[in-house]
Amino acid sequence: MSTSDVVRLEAFTACYPEPNDNNNLRYLTFARVESSDGAVGWGEAITQFPAAAAATEALIAEWGPLVVGRDPVETHAVWTSIKQEAWWYGFRGGIASFALSAIDIALWDLKGKLLGQSLSGLLGGAVQTRLPVVASTHAFHPSLQTEVERHAAYVHVDGYKGVKIGMGKRGDAHLGYDIRRDVDFVRSLRAELGPDAMLMMDRGQHLRWTLAEAVARTRAFEEHGLTWIEEPLEPADVEGLKKLRAQVSTLVAAGEREWNAEGYENFLRNGSVDVVGCDVGRAEGITGALQVIALVERLGLWFNSHAWSSAINTAASIALSASTTRCLLQEMKPDANPMQNEIVASPFVHRDGYIDVPTGPGLGVEVDEAELRKYAWRR
Ligand SMILES: [Mg+2]
Repeated sequence: MSTSDVVRLEAFTACYPEPNDNNNLRYLTFARVESSDGAVGWGEAITQFPAAAAATEALIAEWGPLVVGRDPVETHAVWTSIKQEAWWYGFRGGIASFALSAIDIALWDLKGKLLGQSLSGLLGGAVQTRLPVVASTHAFHPSLQTEVERHAAYVHVDGYKGVKIGMGKRGDAHLGYDIRRDVDFVRSLRAELGPDAMLMMDRGQHLRWTLAEAVARTRAFEEHGLTWIEEPLEPADVEGLKKLRAQVSTLVAAGEREWNAEGYENFLRNGSVDVVGCDVGRAEGITGALQVIALVERLGLWFNSHAWSSAINTAASIALSASTTRCLLQEMKPDANPMQNEIVASPFVHRDGYIDVPTGPGLGVEVDEAELRKYAWRR
């Protein structure tokens, strides 16, 4: 037990241009909790879209009485109260999971600050003291040669251990639509990267491949050394993913759109996936993500945090990823961006392609509230 209670819970949405996504506007909804002795904790939901952000803010505001007055040390008890409150509209996840994620992360941050413990310490310690880092971006330039050079530079100039590339994204790259062009791109990129860099290709949501198209691309890509193929089919197509997995040798990644441990359990039970995507700002916070990690470990799969938003999410993600031996890498957005580089006092930077586990109290990041408020979403 700590000696202070939560006295305030606030929701706040930031709207910002994301350079790693062709400068498109993205939305993040934050929860801010404050204790009676003035300590502050921050959490985040990766709401991404205005409607989701508005709904998440409303839920957080409505749930104030479930959080205010509680002991911030009791993260599991508060999480359980919220799950019970949301029994009707949060069953199988949805927006309620966003709101719960933001609150839960904020409470863990506050708990760590009150107890003088890092999140990693609160989780029982890191089993990996540092994680290899890959640059995770979307292809958007019309010239694929430019995209080859850009991604090779992340490895050779900036020191990342590899690259993950989103296809079918906004912008003018049009990757994922023409198989010969896609395979030429992967071949050229591998030649520039050299043999050792990790390479992952991620089908974007705007693309739809048939099973045959997904298999053909994966087989062609894997000839050039592929660490994994991500969401080659829609995640609901469990039978398709299973068939694809049986026909390729590369790891198959999916799962980032699941909401909670029950959803992951249903999804993973079918043996359709090797690498399990999970966003702590979506899958019911740190408390929820820990349940997903336990499942991943039990099934002998790989955990991959979908950390593509703010430094608050990144901090929680690194601590979670480092808490298990079943994690291959940490993704980071390589180009400087507001939510990673402006809203915290010390942005995350890798050293020689590895990121250290944060050691400061709570999440280990110091949020610059004035900087964050500059990005306040004005409706
Ligand atoms: Mg993805």
